[in-house]
Amino acid sequence: MTWQYHHGMASVIQSKRDDQQIISFNPATGEEVGRVPQLSAAEVLAAVDRSREAFHKWKTTSFRERRALVMKAREVILTQLDEIAHLISAESGKPFGEAIAMEIAPVLDLMQHFARSAERMLKPRRINIGLYATLGRYSKIVYHPLGVVGIIPAWNYPFSIPLGETAMALMAGNSVVIKPSELTPFVGLQIGEIFERAGAPADLVKVVTGDGRTGAALVDAIPDKIMFTGSVATGKTIASAAAKNLIPVVLELGGKDPMIVFDDANLDLAAGAAVWGAFCNAGQSCSSVERLYIQEGVADKLTKLIVARTRELKQGRGDREDVSIGAMSSERQLRIVEDHVNAFREAGAKIEIGGRVGIADRGVRSADSVRSKSDGAIENEGIHDQLSAISNLFFEPTVISGATNDMRPMQEETFGPTLPIATFKTEEEAIRLANDSEFGLTASVWTRDYAKGRRVAEQIEAGSVCVNEVLYTHGIGQTPWGGFKNSGRGRTHGLEGLMELVQPQHIHVNRVAVLPDAWWMPYSPTAVETFRGFAKYFATGSIRKISLLLPQLSKRIRELLKGG
Ligand code: NDP
Repeated sequence: MTWQYHHGMASVIQSKRDDQQIISFNPATGEEVGRVPQLSAAEVLAAVDRSREAFHKWKTTSFRERRALVMKAREVILTQLDEIAHLISAESGKPFGEAIAMEIAPVLDLMQHFARSAERMLKPRRINIGLYATLGRYSKIVYHPLGVVGIIPAWNYPFSIPLGETAMALMAGNSVVIKPSELTPFVGLQIGEIFERAGAPADLVKVVTGDGRTGAALVDAIPDKIMFTGSVATGKTIASAAAKNLIPVVLELGGKDPMIVFDDANLDLAAGAAVWGAFCNAGQSCSSVERLYIQEGVADKLTKLIVARTRELKQGRGDREDVSIGAMSSERQLRIVEDHVNAFREAGAKIEIGGRVGIADRGVRSADSVRSKSDGAIENEGIHDQLSAISNLFFEPTVISGATNDMRPMQEETFGPTLPIATFKTEEEAIRLANDSEFGLTASVWTRDYAKGRRVAEQIEAGSVCVNEVLYTHGIGQTPWGGFKNSGRGRTHGLEGLMELVQPQHIHVNRVAVLPDAWWMPYSPTAVETFRGFAKYFATGSIRKISLLLPQLSKRIRELLKGG
């Protein structure tokens, strides 16, 4: 049976079974994007086996060959730029322009960076081994690929996250198996197709489609590393399944990212940043601004600026170029947002603008069709009404004032277009409120006093903290990405991220292998006296002190030579 994308994408995949399939829908319209198979555990295992065979060839390639493939894949993307952006928009609901700005452009930059720099970053390097060097030895580190890297991404950045990790894994000499989210399988398949068109060897980049069970099967197929992006709950499940086979895992999990605005900040810029930081991708970014803390004196003014900017935003289908806020990606996500907004209301916070399911001021809120995860069911045929061609997976961009940290939605990740605002008096209070969270992915601090900005940034428990910027640092592939606390373990991107995709090997060479080592057997009173000397003099790291050991050392070596 052939599984295909309805809008003409050439990617097809064969499956023996036709009883189980994933139907992908456009969340903005309810239209079917296409169908892919729910692969079985045996099929996933076979994919990992083939990937491992591809790895054994790929690991012997030069950096030049790897660079050529990744750079060619960039070219393929550029020739299909709009087509890919439309696919991302169709499967995720995000505006077409945002797909280019926040997914395609950043990952193209990441690809060229690692294509050009991985060789330098992974160059074998000598290590300073201190006084051991005086014994005629040296050490160097060489980096080996790991093998098969299993990539399990979320649906919110379905292109840039798995593609960036794939490019890095390939540059490090690994092969890759991607299990895209069931909500965005065609974007995942597109990644495999890009590498195929770029001339990648067979099975080097494989894509296995299906739901969470397929992801679990990928973990059970024992890849050599798992790069996971998703919720804390699934991260824990994967970490514990991976632990059974000691598979190392990088976990990129949720966030509840704070933005702190001091009264000396440029309020116009801060307003624009808060609106973009909270509402881009309909708030479904792990590094979205989820909590805004404003210093008391400027809170009213900044809130008004934010509300005014929010009022200007156009919401609608992602394929329109004048739309800023698209659909939510799933009903599950929409319901969480609705629940959080209701919880804010009930706790006494004020909804300044928005607050309802539907499209702001469009009056299509009454349709009750929704997109469900797994079965992909669209419950209301009315959404096919060509007049609106709009589903009901929209939530108005919502600004909420009077929030406090003891309100439930100030603690749980919302992952939607909401911007709750709280106030603070002092720098210490701002830091305390920002750190009052189980999460620690990113944060942002706004002030014209750069020294204060850096001082506050360093006290915030988060993997990335911006001063006078928000959200976008995932787009800087040159810098490490990852969270403190429950926001994750390990890093993607940057040198630290590349190091997650290799295993370091220490090569130690004794260049003057003519004498036995003083610590070899047999032991004796002379040996023990020499070991005391090691503790007292050698272990100081001081070249002056080691000279005090020399007479004892030569006595011990003579003893060993005589014994031998
Ligand atoms: P989920 O945890 O529900 O799913 C993530 C991925 O795991 C999906 O591909 C999913 O497949 C798969 N999966 C589900 N169950 C299993 C399982 N038992 N074994 C293996 N794989 C499984 O997360 P969401 O998709 O809802 O993503 C939203 C979350 O991702 C948010 O918390 C967000 O903050 C976080 N995120 C973090 C980022 C970061 O860099 N820190 C970046 C982007 C998002 P399927 O979808 O088919 O069920």
